[in-house]
Amino acid sequence: MTRPITLAHPHVGDAEIDAVVRVLRSRQLVQGSEVAAFEAEFADLVAGRHCVAVSSGTIALHLALRAYGIGPGDQVILPSFTFGATAHAVAHTGATPIFADIDPETFTLDPDATAAAITSSTAAIIPVHLFGHPAAMDRLTALAAQHGLAVIEDAAQAVGAALGGTSAGAFGHAAAFSFYPTKNMHAIEGGMVVTADDQVARRLRLLRNQGMPSRYEYELIGFNGRMTDVCAAVGRVQLRSLPSWTVRRQAHAAILTEQLHGVVTPPVLPDAVHAYHQYVIRSHNRNALRQQLAESQIETGIHYPTPLHRSPAYGQPADLQHTEQAAAEVLSLPVHPQLTQSDLARIVTAVRR
Ligand SMILES: *Cc1c(COP(=O)(O)O)cnc(C)c1O
Repeated sequence: MTRPITLAHPHVGDAEIDAVVRVLRSRQLVQGSEVAAFEAEFADLVAGRHCVAVSSGTIALHLALRAYGIGPGDQVILPSFTFGATAHAVAHTGATPIFADIDPETFTLDPDATAAAITSSTAAIIPVHLFGHPAAMDRLTALAAQHGLAVIEDAAQAVGAALGGTSAGAFGHAAAFSFYPTKNMHAIEGGMVVTADDQVARRLRLLRNQGMPSRYEYELIGFNGRMTDVCAAVGRVQLRSLPSWTVRRQAHAAILTEQLHGVVTPPVLPDAVHAYHQYVIRSHNRNALRQQLAESQIETGIHYPTPLHRSPAYGQPADLQHTEQAAAEVLSLPVHPQLTQSDLARIVTAVRR
């Protein structure tokens, strides 16, 4: 039997297990010293901005929007070609998600389409650094500044990515990261909100803990968005390996891009550092190719088969040509750090066949 090659491989090593046991034995389980240390260490990745650890990437996005006062009557522009959480985070504030088309090369929010979608009700834009490639932040932040809009980066897939020397998560008014097990680093579950604004950071800290500046004093209508110390301890261990994992993802991607033929491989724009959360090719024969790879015991993914604007949850009429084409053609190949050279050779051979 050929060994299956999986699309993702969440890392759980002895160091993660030891950290979990250590925290459990300490009996300091939630939002304690491990969370504070995780926030301080994560700040190194995002130009020293304030970091607020929360229970998921979804709540990170939602609290970022709330902290900027986004709510009923507001419109928020985002791509339709993304994970559902990006839009759900908007919808739960009471604001209306407005779906704009993507750049066909990078799969990220198209600045021209974004400009065309701006109305007098637009309050924010959410560029998604999809698959780990940074969105066109130079043009998007300029556009937002011109119209007085908040920029909330969805950096859930982009820890380690950068554009023009600036890290993903350090461009916008705020950014959200995810530590779900399949992401480039995990914390079992978890998220991080990042902002450069002191007041916003304070509001985020209140919102994640029932709006309480001190016990049983309610300054805001808050949530329970707290991270456990168990999760933070795992995140801290993973943070130490993240740089070497990112290098491995990039090396695997370089091999695939050099050796794959007959499919469109993912470009990296000049000035961009791709974190390769996913390695996404395009093919007119996507479904046949996927079948062929499955027969060779190679797991692939379709990120994402149905654009959000056409999902039953949203059902918005929109004509998003590049989004539709991407949904029909994309195929994610394994690129994770645990792949071996022979795994990569098997992937290349199977795609060529
Ligand atoms: C994973 C992900 C999220 C949500 O993160 P969770 O930690 O699963 O809540 C949001 N946006 C994108 C683009 C994601 O990939």
